[in-house]
Amino acid sequence: MKAQVLESYDESLSGDTWVTEQNVPDATISSGSDVIVKIGGAGVCRTDLHIIEGVWKPIFDPAGDALLPLIMGHENAGWVEEVGSEVQGLKKGDPVIVHPKIANPFDINVRRGHDMHGDGPFPGLDSDGGYAEYLTTHQRNIVALPNNLEPKAVAAYADAGLTAYHASKKAAQQLLPGQYVVVIGAGGLGHIGIQCLKAMCAAEIIAVDTNDVSLELAKESGADHLVKADGSEVDQVIDLTSGGAQIVMDYVGEKGTTTKGLDMTRGMGSYFVVGYGENVNYPTVNFVVGEKNIIGNLVGTWADLNELMSLAGRGLVNLATKEYSLADANTALHDLAAGKVKGRAILIP
Ligand code: ZN
Repeated sequence: MKAQVLESYDESLSGDTWVTEQNVPDATISSGSDVIVKIGGAGVCRTDLHIIEGVWKPIFDPAGDALLPLIMGHENAGWVEEVGSEVQGLKKGDPVIVHPKIANPFDINVRRGHDMHGDGPFPGLDSDGGYAEYLTTHQRNIVALPNNLEPKAVAAYADAGLTAYHASKKAAQQLLPGQYVVVIGAGGLGHIGIQCLKAMCAAEIIAVDTNDVSLELAKESGADHLVKADGSEVDQVIDLTSGGAQIVMDYVGEKGTTTKGLDMTRGMGSYFVVGYGENVNYPTVNFVVGEKNIIGNLVGTWADLNELMSLAGRGLVNLATKEYSLADANTALHDLAAGKVKGRAILIP
């Protein structure tokens, strides 16, 4: 089968060619619970750029020689192609989306429903993923799609959407009418998060971004207020909210947004880390006086993905996508790196 393969890191992200199209061995069934998915769309994610940069090397490849060559692609949807002998209820041609983490079902965290905190591979990061014609996964990872959703339209929900949904669901459970939630970074993940918040809570949503295209997307996604991040964004949010938002969801996590996000957070409120990159450097006395909380967020559970597909199937969440053929993977990755993608880039074999 054809696949786009990463063979070497590019720490400065300055090269023209990051992945190459190759013929690789076909996906195979190796256990009775395996499922081969014919890829209908694979999301291109900022995490893929971080893999190319080698950011994940210390975690998944400390010796520096075991991970590559790697087929990236952790945001996958398509159709069932073949199932193992133990798989029930799935047949060839069923449209599906793939939960990104193949977690050990006997791990206690997984039995409690926290799929992301179980042991096991994360295809596309630490093993071969979906920048290919086919992907082998596990029946536990399969979520059936509502009939009105096409795999290529929803692929990026498998990680980006799932992350935004998981964080938004946690936030929505705390937000009341009359309160405010800030979304910093209204691009690929943020615009999904805004729609999830809109569908699940009655707080007013404030989008903060440096980019006018992203602010426009935030407005289309349901943001009630738009704040241009021009250096005065903290003051603007403090004014709008009369003192700060109950929850600030930071989809950026670098270039100073952590301090600004915490400054925008009201006393007894919570600052949600979703995007990552810089260190949090904030006076501890502010956490004491204000009783502010910092909340971490990691992708989402299988149940979260199911719930998100339910929202998407009802048209309450829509994903802006830009389609590329699998052969144009380098173009898609470079467009993402250059900030030229409105919403999410999707590779289609
Ligand atoms: Zn991703």
